Amino acid sequence: MIAVLKQGTTPQQTQYLVNWLKNMGMDVHISEGKEVTILGLIGDTSRVDIELLNSLEIVSTVKRISEPFKQANRKFHPKDTVVEIGNVRIGGGHFAMIAGPCSVESLEQIIEVATAVKKSGADILRGGAFKPRTSPYAFQGLKDEGIRLLLEAKKATGLPIITEIMNIRNLDLFEEVDIIQVGARNMQNFDLLQELGKTKKPILLKRGLANTLQELLMSAEYIMSEGNENIILCERGIRTYETYTRNTLDLSAVPVLHELTHLPVVVDPSHATGRATLVPSMAAAAAAAGADGIMVEVHNNPACALCDGAQSLTPEQFDKVNRHVRQIREVLL
Ligand code: PEP
Ligand code: MN
Repeated sequence: MIAVLKQGTTPQQTQYLVNWLKNMGMDVHISEGKEVTILGLIGDTSRVDIELLNSLEIVSTVKRISEPFKQANRKFHPKDTVVEIGNVRIGGGHFAMIAGPCSVESLEQIIEVATAVKKSGADILRGGAFKPRTSPYAFQGLKDEGIRLLLEAKKATGLPIITEIMNIRNLDLFEEVDIIQVGARNMQNFDLLQELGKTKKPILLKRGLANTLQELLMSAEYIMSEGNENIILCERGIRTYETYTRNTLDLSAVPVLHELTHLPVVVDPSHATGRATLVPSMAAAAAAAGADGIMVEVHNNPACALCDGAQSLTPEQFDKVNRHVRQIREVLL
């Protein structure tokens, strides 16, 4: 339920109302906009007398939120959320380019890729240390050593880093990681989401292989309900009957999510297509659709990559994609 307060309501009046609602067992979120303040009520709202609330002097309207996601809902929080990672911002008009290899393979590899993508203008460095592979016999990532190497690349380039967590028992290893990625396969690992909700770290939450946008938002809600509102959503393609591409990029997810939620939306055209030749056009299309960021896989030698070489761009290809995407952003402004 939301209660929109009238313009001119004083902070004292707002606080009085908030206290009254809290005394009824509600959790109250205050969203202060330029013109109006919105109170978002979470909990058993059947205990709140809508008529009474509506009749209060300072209340303009009261509405029930029919969607099951509340804190992620734009109705709760009309303003775009801007996730801040040091000097980098994502959302609310701020765009970030995330680039790097699927997996961290060696110090030389990650430093070479990090240096190249930084030179091209990437904002954030990606690199998998814990890899969720379909086969238990495939390369599983360098794990804690991978995170250590990623931190070396962060030190060398100044780029903030993002890497995937698979199990909460490894959380201590992520202390200096700037954004924790929850991969598609863990989108509905609710225990993991709740534990990440207890941290203040920015979380990039990828859409599951066969999950609806509402399910994605409910997963974001799991993190938010524990107190962490620093969430970036990521569309990375979904399973359909088409097999030519690795997945099917659901580009309409971008405007749909922007309608439904205030959280920033990033697109990953690498996992969506599975082919390096398709990444430039889909990255451009994602920017045109209004994505708040793009995450692409870049490898210094894609043919020899230990993971996802077929969809990895060379640093030269990335340079061009980055320029193109930024030109498209300019046109949109
Ligand atoms: C990744 O980004 O390295 C990854 C494993 O992606 P996804 O979870 O989308 O498959
Ligand atoms: Mn990958």
